[in-house]
Amino acid sequence: MKTDQGGHLIQAYTHFIAGALIQREVEKRVKRPFGRVFFLVFLGIASHVVIDDLARLTYHPPQAMKEDLFWVGYHIFAVVATLACLIVWRRYLAGMLCAVLPDLDWIIRPLARVLGWEWWKEGALHAFCRGLPGLAQIDGLLQKLPNWTGIPAASLNELIFASLLMFLYWATREEMVSEGIK
Ligand SMILES: [Zn+2]
Repeated sequence: MKTDQGGHLIQAYTHFIAGALIQREVEKRVKRPFGRVFFLVFLGIASHVVIDDLARLTYHPPQAMKEDLFWVGYHIFAVVATLACLIVWRRYLAGMLCAVLPDLDWIIRPLARVLGWEWWKEGALHAFCRGLPGLAQIDGLLQKLPNWTGIPAASLNELIFASLLMFLYWATREEMVSEGIK
């Protein structure tokens, strides 16, 4: 089964940056409330699928490595970065939550075990989102990327993805400010 088990914590901040950017753009371009909800959810899910796939190029070993200083340090950084996103972009909370919607899988999993939900398949939400028209093709292509999840230096790739999204956020923000001045 194709899941991103184990990587979701490290990637949360990258998903959140994408979610904040999506909400800001949707609010700028879509006026009707129903349209906004639709685009927030659809684009949030689409960004999630792409970022999860790109995670093949980033460091996130499937098993916790609590003895490993780098693993611990990187996780502390990821938690701080995630909290910083939630604080700085609290105005875009809806977009950020939509961008991590498929990760409800990781909340449902223990719940399903406790409640004995035999019918719930592990990773079902991720599998559903990856199968959506349009996303399935992108996912199929990105699944061919090499798997570097066990290489610590690949954590730099996560920082590069996050920085590119941040750059996009700030670059388009200037455009919005200049539009406002006009
Ligand atoms: Zn995920």
